[in-house]
Amino acid sequence: MTNSQPETLQRPRIYQFKLGDAIVTNLLEGHVTREDLHPFVATNATAEEIETLAGQYQIPYPKLEHSFTTTVIEIDGKVIAIDPGFGENSPMPSAGFFLQTLSAAGYTKEDIDMVVISHSHPDHIGNLMTGGEPTFPNAEVVYGRKEFDYWQSGKNIAEFRKPTLALFQKVALPLADRIRFIEPDDSIVQGITAVEAYGHSAGHLAFLIESNGQKLMMLNDTVAHYVASFANPDWAFSMDDDADAAAVSRRRVLTNVSRDKIPVIGFHLPFPAIGFVEAAASSFVYRPATYQFNV
Ligand SMILES: [Zn+2]
Repeated sequence: MTNSQPETLQRPRIYQFKLGDAIVTNLLEGHVTREDLHPFVATNATAEEIETLAGQYQIPYPKLEHSFTTTVIEIDGKVIAIDPGFGENSPMPSAGFFLQTLSAAGYTKEDIDMVVISHSHPDHIGNLMTGGEPTFPNAEVVYGRKEFDYWQSGKNIAEFRKPTLALFQKVALPLADRIRFIEPDDSIVQGITAVEAYGHSAGHLAFLIESNGQKLMMLNDTVAHYVASFANPDWAFSMDDDADAAAVSRRRVLTNVSRDKIPVIGFHLPFPAIGFVEAAASSFVYRPATYQFNV
């Protein structure tokens, strides 16, 4: 046996903590190594800008790790999975492990009372169905109305998003009957509110979690990379469907959480994908959490 393949090496994949009376569990669904930090995380930056930034933060260039962290929250008497990953629809062998990790964390798929979707990209919706059946048999599915309508219409879909549309039609559309549709500012359960963060996809949502005076913002894909997306919020993530709108949302949400000192979870932030946002001159800095949630 050799550990030369990264997939065979052990790494943290479960991080659980209390937020007020809620129990939050971050689960690593998978990760992928890429060779294109530029332009992947900042299409409108120069390669030199990104290479310099990588040097300052002591991260490699152009190699990067793009990871996928799903979150399960016990709140308001429910077990809620937010964006449960690719599941069997993972296009890469190093992702698609939500169910295994969920089980290692002590939950079954039957335990999930509700699945909340931030947007319709494959890493967020792929696991809605397994083998043509709902992956979470007891779960109500909660979806932004604007987001669902956009993909259901099938109009104005970029060429590179055609496979995303096909996946949406395969795993989300068949669930339409059991979906509860929401709008920004709607309360999903007591303690989870939808936050408008349009741009990364047409109806992309963030979620504000609140329990017993403690708050946490689920950024989802409002940010893509823990250095670049904060260093210059106007840099476009190559996976942003509407880069200009995404930048406006990114700046607004990051301004609010840095001002109000609300910790954040981001789906693509390095595991355990939780930290704090500090405002800098006209940008931000992400400070990964250490033990703040353990004490
Ligand atoms: Zn994503």
